[in-house]
Amino acid sequence: MKKICIAGGGPAGVVAAIFASENPENKIYIFDKGIILNTLLPTGGGRCNLAYNEYNFKELAKFYPRGEKFLYSVFSVFSTKETIEFFKKIGIDTYVQEDLRIFPVTNSSKDVKEALLKQINKKNINKVFEQIGDITKTDKGFCVKTGKNIYNFDAVVISCGGRGSGQKLAKNLGHNIIDLKPSLCALVTKEKDFVSLAGVSLKNIKAEVFFDNKKVKIPPSMLTGDILFTHTGISGPLVYRISSYCAYLDFCKERPLKIVLNISRKNFDEFDGIFLKDLKENPQKETLNVLSKHIPKNFAAALCEKENIDKIQKAGQLSKIDRQKLSKALTSLAINVISAVKGEEIVTAGGVDLKEINAKTMESKLVSNLYFCGEVLNIDGLTGGFNLQNCWSTGFLAGNSLL
Ligand SMILES: Cc1cc2nc3c(=O)[nH]c(=O)nc-3n(C[C@H](O)[C@H](O)[C@H](O)COP(=O)(O)OP(=O)(O)OC[C@H]3O[C@@H](n4cnc5c(N)ncnc54)[C@H](O)[C@@H]3O)c2cc1C
Repeated sequence: MKKICIAGGGPAGVVAAIFASENPENKIYIFDKGIILNTLLPTGGGRCNLAYNEYNFKELAKFYPRGEKFLYSVFSVFSTKETIEFFKKIGIDTYVQEDLRIFPVTNSSKDVKEALLKQINKKNINKVFEQIGDITKTDKGFCVKTGKNIYNFDAVVISCGGRGSGQKLAKNLGHNIIDLKPSLCALVTKEKDFVSLAGVSLKNIKAEVFFDNKKVKIPPSMLTGDILFTHTGISGPLVYRISSYCAYLDFCKERPLKIVLNISRKNFDEFDGIFLKDLKENPQKETLNVLSKHIPKNFAAALCEKENIDKIQKAGQLSKIDRQKLSKALTSLAINVISAVKGEEIVTAGGVDLKEINAKTMESKLVSNLYFCGEVLNIDGLTGGFNLQNCWSTGFLAGNSLL
């Protein structure tokens, strides 16, 4: 009989518990300071984007700015196919959305939560609603301390997520922790010109990112997408991806991250030629209305204001300098980013150093019978179901290692 502590009842810990429980001799206790699996509820806007329709494990791993190589081994054992099969087995059928994200057919994260909880209850896994403050190694196993009690276990799985408490437990057990940084988050801009545009989005635009006058290396396929203007800056899928790739750059007011947007997706000469033709063909129209052919009207108005151009002047009267200013804004609009929006990140970059973890078992290389899974590790993906995929895959390996 093995007594196992699962420290953290999020998606990773719960899946580890379910797989470990396949050995009926195991006595499993899930500890959670809050409500088990509640972190699953807001995922995918309440729909739970639980995986991504990529079946080649090396291709799938490319969506993780941190953890890619480590995940080769993990995903070669348990990735998209196994995830879909697992969920089908516990009563959750899935479908693939047009953008390849995978959701439960009911579009309900509550249903995913209930299905997983049903497994826990069926398998007689114990729930302890206490916050773990410390875990120490003993001669026979581990001593787990909560504010209320002290417990002894043969094996421990740390699955406390990305917010820092699991990393602290790991550090006390001798593990190195890679600095925690917000990732997949909105960004605060230096420019306040676009405040009036809060809520306006631009679709399918291209970006380039610079820091200290050097281009930041980001795969080109990740640099096209939608952007949303907010009260403090920019957000949306493209911005989330940029925030992820730039999570470890020390940008600030004095050293901003420069994002150059190509809204028209044409080069300057090409766009300027088209714009000139539009202006010539509509000399009596207001400049704003001609510009609105290419971008949302409120965005066109904000651009005119930013460039000090009278938006109601007749298109035929727009000077060459002003036309070129607008063409430049539509082909290379520079936005300076000074920080991430704190506390609203979807995922945390950083965590338990992967060098100290066995990628085949999720066991610590430093402390035997100590395992890790989920976001507590230095693994984070882009939006698209990748972060939950990390939980299912590493959770499976940890649980399976405890059979
Ligand atoms: C708004 C939002 C939407 C998201 N949408 C998606 C999505 O659609 N698809 C996707 O792939 N990812 C999504 N994510 C990311 C995903 O939810 C996380 O990556 C995932 O929940 C991490 O799972 P985990 O089990 O590692 O940790 P968590 O889900 O954070 O769970 C950790 C658990 O441990 C408990 N705990 C922590 N410390 C202690 C302690 N000391 N003692 C006891 N218990 C403790 C916590 O209460 C919690 O229940 C989203 C995240 C957010 C915030």
